[in-house]
Amino acid sequence: MKVIAVFNAGSSSLKFSVFRHDNLELLHKGDVDVPDSKDGHKKALNEALTWISSQKELELSVAGHRVVHGKDRAKPVKITPEVLKELQSLIPLAPLHQPHNLSIIEELAKLHPNLPQIACFDTAFHRTQPKLAEMFALPRHFYDDGVKRYGYHGISYEYIASEIPKYAKVHEKVVVAHLGNGASLCAMKDLKSVATSMGFSTLDGLMMGTRTGVLDAGVILYLQQHLKMSVEAVSDLFYHKSGLLGVSGISNDMRTLEESKKPEAREAIDLFCRMAAQQLGGLIAILGGLDALVFTGGIGEHSERVRQGIIDYFAWISPPVYVIPTNEELVIARACR
Ligand code: ADP
Repeated sequence: MKVIAVFNAGSSSLKFSVFRHDNLELLHKGDVDVPDSKDGHKKALNEALTWISSQKELELSVAGHRVVHGKDRAKPVKITPEVLKELQSLIPLAPLHQPHNLSIIEELAKLHPNLPQIACFDTAFHRTQPKLAEMFALPRHFYDDGVKRYGYHGISYEYIASEIPKYAKVHEKVVVAHLGNGASLCAMKDLKSVATSMGFSTLDGLMMGTRTGVLDAGVILYLQQHLKMSVEAVSDLFYHKSGLLGVSGISNDMRTLEESKKPEAREAIDLFCRMAAQQLGGLIAILGGLDALVFTGGIGEHSERVRQGIIDYFAWISPPVYVIPTNEELVIARACR
């Protein structure tokens, strides 16, 4: 039986799924911890391949990968040496994710040179956005040089967009809130992205588990010029030590914060909801109304408290609210087929 393998390489884990090629039935799901990245990913890949070859009747026909950055690409692409080179040139745009995504592709190409490999991009879904949504108020040559808003979580948004008609009859103007460890909002007009809260990098927009979300650029100047923090220290602060973890001083995990009695935990959750509501309000203005608000991601799917904390800001329009579990792997498997 022909199968599709889907790989999602994060900074500390490799998730893999195996689907039947003919009907996209999910046959197996695995999650391998990868404490130290490069060798860890090789080991994780081997574990995934070993599972497939141990199932006598399965034949791997194509592999699909989540790749964070596709720059201006709006569609998945089949990997060739030229494409791989192009995607490697995007590493400076997504230094924390892109190298992991690509190392799996390279390793698999070494092991199975004839296996077709497909890359699906987190940025691709947002390429329907108008130019204004992508622009920063910087001198215009920066835009031409690629310093613009790309947006992320697009694979998840693509899945949700395909599900929304099953839930919401009216779906001309929808905002989807993908709230996980990473978190963002996407405004969709007729199920196509017209604006999103993440921008040039995955730091922008909502407060996240360990990331700041939107931040006055003057703070960056202050940290470097006045406090003399190094670029590496600032990067570590913004990506790994801020967000729910930094504000609470307790944890980046929403469940832990919900269980805590400490006022700092409560304040972190309140700030998370307030920042989400403030940016959601902006997206409603861009859409000119709201037919449906959809929650997804670990927090969006499971935290009644956070959902309610955000919705409370919108009592004056009381939008229809839906909770739709995301399925990024299925989007990648569809692209492979
Ligand atoms: P990732 O972005 O890494 O894929 P997830 O989408 O799995 O992350 O989301 C992880 C977040 O979801 C964590 O903050 C976790 O605490 C939160 N979460 C998961 N289940 C619950 C729950 N039952 N109640 C509150 N938060 C939850």
